[in-house]
Amino acid sequence: MPRPPGVSNDQQVDADVCARAGSTIERHFSVEQLPRLQEAGALDGSRIDVRLRFSLFDDRPAVDGKSSGTLSLRCQRCLQPVAVPIEEQFQVILVQQESADEPGGYEPVVADPAHFDVRWLAEEQALLALPLVPLHAVGECEEAAMPPLGIEEGASPGAQRPFRNLRDLLEK
Ligand SMILES: [Zn+2]
Repeated sequence: MPRPPGVSNDQQVDADVCARAGSTIERHFSVEQLPRLQEAGALDGSRIDVRLRFSLFDDRPAVDGKSSGTLSLRCQRCLQPVAVPIEEQFQVILVQQESADEPGGYEPVVADPAHFDVRWLAEEQALLALPLVPLHAVGECEEAAMPPLGIEEGASPGAQRPFRNLRDLLEK
């Protein structure tokens, strides 16, 4: 399949060329390609799709983007994987150096437009979409992995239970 103009490989594009051409680029990434996301707790099976529509704004490349996909994260209640769907829209503009206010409501991204890293942007947006505390819906945790509350409290009165307060909150 011929590459659209400005696309040098799967991960980098020439954002200037894409902006002038009004290109739309779609990419799919699995967690193996996103080490920062892995570090943040994404497990095997996580994947992100991005769709980037390039345009010129103020003579600079701007991107209207959408990321969607499913992250597999560790539930902080039962410690089993929980699938967390994400669906985010974002608008960024490529700048040489960051300034206090960017016009048009775009989020400034300091980047070299000639080698704009699509994978980096996809990972960045996925990190922003990560829930602070991933959890199964109430009642959907793996019961086998849940310690029975009574025994746990009796057996280890001094044990650390970092998520106890969270659980109390969730049950309110
Ligand atoms: Zn759970």
